Amino acid sequence: MFADRVLSGMRPTGSLHLGHYHGVLKNWVQMQHEMECLFFVADWHALTTHYDTPQVIEQSVWDMVIDWLAAGVDPAHSTLFIQSRVPEHAELHLLLSMITPLGWLERMPTYKDQQEKLSGKDLSTYGFLGYPLLQSADILIYRATQVPVGEDQVPHIEFTREIARRFNHIYGREIGFEEKAEAAIKKMGSKKGRLYSELRTKYQEQGDDEALLAAKALLDEQQNLSHGDRERLFGYLEGSGKMILSEPQAMLTAASRMPGLDGQKMSKSYGNTISMREDEESVTKKIRTMPTDPARIRRTDPGTPEKCPVWQLHQVYSSDDTKQWVQQGCTSAGIGCIECKQPVIQGVLDEQRPMRERAQYYLDDPTLVKNIIADGCEKARELARDTMRDVREAMGLSYS
Ligand code: SF4
Repeated sequence: MFADRVLSGMRPTGSLHLGHYHGVLKNWVQMQHEMECLFFVADWHALTTHYDTPQVIEQSVWDMVIDWLAAGVDPAHSTLFIQSRVPEHAELHLLLSMITPLGWLERMPTYKDQQEKLSGKDLSTYGFLGYPLLQSADILIYRATQVPVGEDQVPHIEFTREIARRFNHIYGREIGFEEKAEAAIKKMGSKKGRLYSELRTKYQEQGDDEALLAAKALLDEQQNLSHGDRERLFGYLEGSGKMILSEPQAMLTAASRMPGLDGQKMSKSYGNTISMREDEESVTKKIRTMPTDPARIRRTDPGTPEKCPVWQLHQVYSSDDTKQWVQQGCTSAGIGCIECKQPVIQGVLDEQRPMRERAQYYLDDPTLVKNIIADGCEKARELARDTMRDVREAMGLSYS
């Protein structure tokens, strides 16, 4: 229905580490050249679990934006903004809550999981129960078509699609819809109008998805249709109502395989991280002292790389030649562990160097970051206002 638009956010609950870089940010950097991208600081989401430590959120917001910029997220190619600076998210969240069955939220698999995981916190709050709906509002307000998520978040996208469908079903009905849609087809001109009708019939009678895509592409090209007519014709393709909110697709991202210093997945909760901009001395020390194959007690003992956390880091940072050197040297006790760790140290430092340089540029002049965010919030608000105009109108709230 709308041109491809990606939305992705991160909760500001602490500094970012290399797991975030490999798992999320590298993907953002690549996507920003391929599609329209909106990246946001999900500060309201952070409050759903960190409501009693607001100071962490405040500090993390700016550090996190600098981490994004350091990773190569480019404000010339993507829109960066802070969720709470676009209050329309809250309005849409509230309005969607009017039509959201409580059971849909209570059944979200992450609801119980997270409550169990964060058992030290009282998460029997209204905000925590409703956070998937806030996420839906974040997505729907920008009419995002693609949302990069890991496997565990797929139910949230499915939930968002259901909310959009329910909204369109309740509010997309209008008196004389079919007549208005037929009138809109005439406005496309006889040739394109006929093509639209043929593709619509093909889709509705034969379930031909390609015909649906072709019809959508045809509508995207139409310059002479009003926004309302376009929505009507998108809705007319698939049903009998206006499509006010568009259903997003989950863009499944591979789970980050970035290992931490102990061989488990890199995660703040395991205390096994290297921060994205950690200083060289600290990185070197952390890797030098990280555990190795427990069976390799003496330098003269041969080791098994597959049982060693350092080997996992070689998978990320080393060339095939180096990996062969490790295999050969470790299993024959030809190299020591400190020697083996050196290419990993070098790999991490080489990766971090340009990040540190980019970050320094923004640390030297924090107003640059504030301006990037101010611009991004303004752009995001414009898009959000567009959607809210339609939502308010559909819900009988546009008083003019
Ligand atoms: S030589 Fe390398 S792979 Fe082998 S145990 Fe030591 S650090 Fe691990």
